[in-house]
Amino acid sequence: KLIVFEGIEGAGKTTQIQQTSDWLKSWLSEEILIAREPGGTPLGERLREVLLADAWIDDTPELLLYAADRAQHIQESIQPALKAGKIILCDRFTDSTVAYQGYGRGLSLELIEQLNSIATQGIESDITLWLDVDVETGLERMRQRGSADRMEQADLAFHYRVKQGFESLAQAHPERIIPIDANLPADQVQAQIRTALKSRL
Ligand code: C5P
Ligand code: MG
Repeated sequence: KLIVFEGIEGAGKTTQIQQTSDWLKSWLSEEILIAREPGGTPLGERLREVLLADAWIDDTPELLLYAADRAQHIQESIQPALKAGKIILCDRFTDSTVAYQGYGRGLSLELIEQLNSIATQGIESDITLWLDVDVETGLERMRQRGSADRMEQADLAFHYRVKQGFESLAQAHPERIIPIDANLPADQVQAQIRTALKSRL
């Protein structure tokens, strides 16, 4: 099973994935793999550094680097793990590309869909937990964390467009995407995630 965690900056994905993994381990016998995009493979981690460094990247090369990261990730890690019957908890997946490069940067949604299907070889998430946080709340959490990468320089309107992207995706794919209120404290976010997963695993 491929379980994806999505959301804008400061939604708390990384924390929630760790807690979800600990909880799943206590009641399921399947092995759990924690993964992330960009990253998730040796090549992917190098691409992540490139993507998040200061150097300016134009929109189309940025999209292609995310696609390259995903293609490697699927081939090297996700597909073998699925075949082995593992549960994969993945920090971001195809929806992030739609939200950031599509809604955020304004690149063609059709082109993104094509690239996503090439990169994933048709693999889709079984469940996507969309950690829905308000833009201002998310960015404030990032500031408090002292996190600074290339994306910090994006203007507020960009982050609102990305959030709009996740909203549209959630409306279009209610069978796959479960919205989670991520404005709440972490333990209440985790409780919602457990309720959602209990009824679907
Ligand atoms: O998931 P995480 O917050 O670690 O993502 C790293 C950065 O990559 C974030 O700043 C996010 O905005 C950016 N990103 C992006 N486009 C994607 C995926 C992530 O701009 N498709
Ligand atoms: Mg994170």
